[in-house]
Amino acid sequence: MIRRDFLRRVLYGGTAFAATGAAARALTPGMGHDAAGVLDPLNLLGPQSRQSLPTLTAIPFRLEDVRILDPNLLRVREQTLNYLLALDSDRLLHNFRVTAKLPSSAEPLYNREAPTNGWRGHYVGHFLSACSQMYASTGDVRIKTKADAMVSELAKCQAQLGDKGYLSAFPESDFDNLEQGRPAAVLWYALHKIMAGLLDVNEHMQNAQALQVLEGMAAWTDWRTGRLPEEQMQRTLQIEFGGMNEVLANLSAVTGNPRHLVVAQRFDHHAVMDPAAQGRDTLTSLHANTQIPKFIGAAREFELTGDPHYRDAALFFWQQVALHRSYVTGGNSAREHFRTPPDVLASELTDLSQETCNTYNMLKLTRQLFTWQAEPQYADYYERAFLNHILATPNPADGSPLYYLGMQSGQWKVHFVPHEGFFCCCGSGLENFSKLGDGFYFHNEQSLWVNLFFASEVNWREKGVTLRQETRFPDEAGTRLTIQAKSPARFTLNVRIPCWADAASVTINGKPFQPRQKLVPSSYAKIDRTWKNGDRVEVKLPMRLHLQTVPDDPTLAAIMYGPVVLAGELGTENLDAKRIYSDDKVLHGGFSAIAVPELFGDRNALDKWIQPVSEKKDAALTFRTVGAGHPQDVTLSPFYRLFDQRYCVYWRFRQAA
Ligand SMILES: [Zn+2]
Repeated sequence: MIRRDFLRRVLYGGTAFAATGAAARALTPGMGHDAAGVLDPLNLLGPQSRQSLPTLTAIPFRLEDVRILDPNLLRVREQTLNYLLALDSDRLLHNFRVTAKLPSSAEPLYNREAPTNGWRGHYVGHFLSACSQMYASTGDVRIKTKADAMVSELAKCQAQLGDKGYLSAFPESDFDNLEQGRPAAVLWYALHKIMAGLLDVNEHMQNAQALQVLEGMAAWTDWRTGRLPEEQMQRTLQIEFGGMNEVLANLSAVTGNPRHLVVAQRFDHHAVMDPAAQGRDTLTSLHANTQIPKFIGAAREFELTGDPHYRDAALFFWQQVALHRSYVTGGNSAREHFRTPPDVLASELTDLSQETCNTYNMLKLTRQLFTWQAEPQYADYYERAFLNHILATPNPADGSPLYYLGMQSGQWKVHFVPHEGFFCCCGSGLENFSKLGDGFYFHNEQSLWVNLFFASEVNWREKGVTLRQETRFPDEAGTRLTIQAKSPARFTLNVRIPCWADAASVTINGKPFQPRQKLVPSSYAKIDRTWKNGDRVEVKLPMRLHLQTVPDDPTLAAIMYGPVVLAGELGTENLDAKRIYSDDKVLHGGFSAIAVPELFGDRNALDKWIQPVSEKKDAALTFRTVGAGHPQDVTLSPFYRLFDQRYCVYWRFRQAA
């Protein structure tokens, strides 16, 4: 397989694992890289990589090949599908048609898709990505018909806007303001979403027109940015521009046109990326979600150029954000910013903590970094953030997303009014539940990785193998994997042993795997054998209560049970529908938090005073403090399942008298 096909499949999951230096040269002529040598993944971080293009250790399965069985995930996906089908295409297109001076009598949308809003158009990009992912996941042709029609209407707008390929819900003259340093909207941000949406529609729906429209936009981007001296271009990058480097690098991989990669690199924001590549954290005070896509782009650019500068930047950024700037849920930011130095979070437990887009983007970066060396720390983070932030967002009644996930004690989750929110987190929220299954499984020629434990099935076409995962995880502390194979197949099954599982065990057809060897937390059980139809792997992952302390205040800690963040159920004092739903992102204004109990229990013996409420099914993972809460004890339940009431995640621990 040529390298460009390989890279395309890395983006979207794939069916083969190979790369050739010859194709790499074809992709990057004149880039100053001798791509003759393909790097061994084990040497990915070695000094010789400057002259080589990396090969990857693991690639994700395509969405088409993962079948979700978990009823909770199926419900939220169904809600998302119904919402995508219900959205009015003419209203979505309104600002594009107005900009192109085409007739539109549709009622404009609200908030960030309102006709004068500085973000308009972005949601249409998310809509296209979500439709394409939903189609890949479900095969529902109604969603394909709708997205295809949207692309053909966008093509009409593009044709009407001239012959340079420009397409946006903004007049092109707005770019003059941006380039001249005058107040400007987030023009490239909105364009990035639209371009990514078109690329996804092309990839998942085989829509050739989407690629045509996108290549027009890319040609216009080349022309528009090519006129600017580098210093001026860098100044424009001070305004949030999404992942323009990412989408152009992806387009380069999909089309094999190296020109797109050249243009992608114009969007490398040196003021932020260069220090990260040198191992310096300069993120304090920066807007958080503005930065994350730059590093997803850097990761793509590393794969396409082999330049270790990009690799170092992406790895360092991930480490700082995931390990030193995130809450127990895996989310980050307070009032949308990295406001404090690394490992300083006590002052950041606010009502406006954790913009949800940030975690959507961190999961994209994490998934990408996992493909490089299949390191378990990435899968551990993916589980933490997916379970405790992403799944904590959609209101179960209607699937309505939210913007901030407040970490101040006594807060509550505020959702967008169904069908009226068009903020960034509503757009990325559509995608979160259209691509369920992404990041669960990876593979290469000889190996399969099981990273997340949700009831699902993965079809490994090349091997003629289907792996079915049956579990009620996390309500059940483990999972069962069954192999369905047309004929015996030799491969290594890598089962993740999570960081929180210190007493894990695995059996194969009832016989213990490595009976005399402890399975180390944050590793893989690597089971290399010839697998036969009906082979069964049972994975036991005993969970226990544990604390995650705020790094700069050891008296503040969150309580976890295995992978699950537990939250205190604090009731509905002063809450009504008006305070649980809002069409504004600044949601909590004027509403005060309430007093929250403090905990006096022994931190080294949590199970003595935090006890399961009941073995009943509907009370699974529900606990109650016993004689340790002051002024009263509290019931604890999974944060991701706690809605429509006040909660506490971080508790003040006091020394018992
Ligand atoms: Zn957002």
